[in-house]
Amino acid sequence: MAQQQTDKFKKIISHAKEYGFIFPSSEIYDGLSAVYDYGQNGVLLKNNIRDYWWKSMVQLHDDIVGIDSAIFMHPTTWKASGHVDAFNDPLIDNKVSKKRYRADVLVEDYVSKIEAKIEKEIDKASKRYGDSFDEKQFRSTNPRVKSYSEKANSILKRLGKSLEDENLADVKALIDELEIPCPESGSKDWTDVKQFNLMFGTKLGASVDTAMDLYLRPETAQGIFVNFLNIQKTGRMKLPFGIAQTGKAFRNEIVARQFIFRMREFEQMEMQFFIPPGTQKEWYDKWKNNRLKWHLALDMGKEKYRFHDHEKLAHYADAATDIEFRFPFGFKELEGIHSRTDFDLSNHEKYTGKKLQYFDPEQNKNYIPYVVETSIGLDRMFLAVFSNSLSEEIIEGGTSRIVLKLPPALAPIKVAILPLVKKDGLPELAHKISRNLKWDLTTAYDEKDAVGRRYRRQDALGTPYCVTVDHQSLNDKTVTIRERDSMNQERVSIDNLTELIGKKVSVKSLLEKLV
Ligand code: ATP
Repeated sequence: MAQQQTDKFKKIISHAKEYGFIFPSSEIYDGLSAVYDYGQNGVLLKNNIRDYWWKSMVQLHDDIVGIDSAIFMHPTTWKASGHVDAFNDPLIDNKVSKKRYRADVLVEDYVSKIEAKIEKEIDKASKRYGDSFDEKQFRSTNPRVKSYSEKANSILKRLGKSLEDENLADVKALIDELEIPCPESGSKDWTDVKQFNLMFGTKLGASVDTAMDLYLRPETAQGIFVNFLNIQKTGRMKLPFGIAQTGKAFRNEIVARQFIFRMREFEQMEMQFFIPPGTQKEWYDKWKNNRLKWHLALDMGKEKYRFHDHEKLAHYADAATDIEFRFPFGFKELEGIHSRTDFDLSNHEKYTGKKLQYFDPEQNKNYIPYVVETSIGLDRMFLAVFSNSLSEEIIEGGTSRIVLKLPPALAPIKVAILPLVKKDGLPELAHKISRNLKWDLTTAYDEKDAVGRRYRRQDALGTPYCVTVDHQSLNDKTVTIRERDSMNQERVSIDNLTELIGKKVSVKSLLEKLV
């Protein structure tokens, strides 16, 4: 990461801690690597993201239902899904620093640096040419940009092919040829690349002899597959239909860094859409569009997203793409969309000996459905929203303010009620207003310090509205409402507050953009 990016990222992490969003797990014991706890504001933001996802899937779609399956599953599940044999990451050790890395991530980080150079050229050119700048044309004609992007593409292609062929020696050769140094020691002295299984094992049962080996689920999807028939039958579902679920997943990540981007315990939001074989291309394209729309509705900037189609397909997929987001450390995967064929259901059939088929009344035959899935990490989405929202602004008088410009529908606290002074009956009126708003909105009450400082505190938490109660309020039942981003203030009637604020901060305001 360039120094500027590193500094920005450090600010994000410390802001998340200082304002009660995210703490390192078991911090008083010096923390546990790549495990984090959500604090009083973090949990609200996280719940709001989950709620937006869940409602967009389950509430808005007649053909999608939700479930909540257990974290523990029969161990053979993971044999059938391919995770026991193929859920590996290629790892490599640096002989000098003794640090362990994911070999593919080392190469991808190298490519990110080339991509950063391309972005820099584009930035420079766009400043030089102003309005007449045509980025597409520049990308395809500028010799330097062309050569960078050819280099990046050829590296990724070779990496994809070697991983697909499980040619770990070539991955090592690529790292040697590119002369990639250890980020810690700078040494280029690497071991060979080896495979490492990412599942956490545990045991069920008390006695050593009879205890059963279990895994903590590495994805939520299998809980959906094993319940496919239960849901199809009890819900009398007709194909095509989807099953959605959110929940914890666990991976023993080799290189767990970048804060909550890569955790060992994290939460996924997954939806498996069951379809007749042969229609997967159409549904894959549909879900790609739907999911991008879901992201764009947050108004965080169209240019922050891009699709990255996979060269190397996972063991279960016939097409796959990532929605990548521009994190502070560059474009990285935020969500995966995979066309999984009938891989999972047919393997569960094989391992259980039980039929997992659907009778299609239109085609008058039984078959195993195909599946298109969308899979997004809730914590990663949290990081995308949080990092994109944190900004520092110079305001009137040359002072600066830190403001968390969260999409209002996701903000932990929607409105803060601030009595101008702590006397003359203003706190009592402010509490009364707060009690009324609480039926519909999450509120905060703050009477400490000058009102300007209280505004700053709410800005840093991302609260979209502050309501100030002053002496005039006692006489004419009006208050001042201040909007976070513009800092505009307006005098409004107390009776109108719920409606006025509610409309702007409701998840409905996002959902309406999806249909
Ligand atoms: P990566 O290549 O970053 O390891 P992946 O391709 O293995 O991710 P999937 O198995 O497709 O990820 O999981 C779907 C989503 O779950 C990812 O897009 C990501 O948002 C999230 N996710 C996966 N692993 C982690 C993790 N260790 N920590 C946080 N989120 C994760």
